[in-house]
Amino acid sequence: MPEFEVQFYPFANVNNTIRLRDNKMKLRISDLLEGAPENVLRAIFHILLAKIYRKPIDADHATRYRRYVSSHDMAKKSHLVRQVRGRKRIVSAQGHTYDLEAIFEELNARFFHGLLARPQMTWSGVHARNSLGHYDPAHNAIVVSKVFDHPHVPRYAVEYIVYHEMLHLKHPVKLRGSRRCVHPKEFQDEEKLFPQLEEAKAFLKQL
Ligand SMILES: [Zn+2]
Repeated sequence: MPEFEVQFYPFANVNNTIRLRDNKMKLRISDLLEGAPENVLRAIFHILLAKIYRKPIDADHATRYRRYVSSHDMAKKSHLVRQVRGRKRIVSAQGHTYDLEAIFEELNARFFHGLLARPQMTWSGVHARNSLGHYDPAHNAIVVSKVFDHPHVPRYAVEYIVYHEMLHLKHPVKLRGSRRCVHPKEFQDEEKLFPQLEEAKAFLKQL
């Protein structure tokens, strides 16, 4: 039995590697998989070990791993990390129209008794519409799509996006068995406290 060294590693993508050298087995697991359910991590280890010993890969493990990686959440996460790691990060909370830090502080006072610690607030560098915003726990950052930094976008719409991500800060992803619960009931109830929820959703929908 070789000695094992296993670590999460900040690859730019979901990537896992295995190497055997001098009777030392070195595994690097994408840090995007930190927090993955145990059965997914088991599947990864099975796949990597099968690869290095040239044994057949169990179909259940292969499916479990593939399903997890292609899930919506992972895709989003890896997209963000690629944006952040793939190029020099320009962190800017102050946009042309809206200042995300100011919006955060205002919402913090209005809805959270000022209790949330402010993460890195930044407009995304990309004009992508597929994602309004996201909270990135790896970098403790709230990223909002630059599309919304525009005078035609009402302030309440930007506030709603930031508010939603602040709720992600407050309610970390829960595991229910091996299922990830991203928007638990407490989250949804609290989201309803935002006064212009319906207007904001309607506005964002018609974009
Ligand atoms: Zn969400």
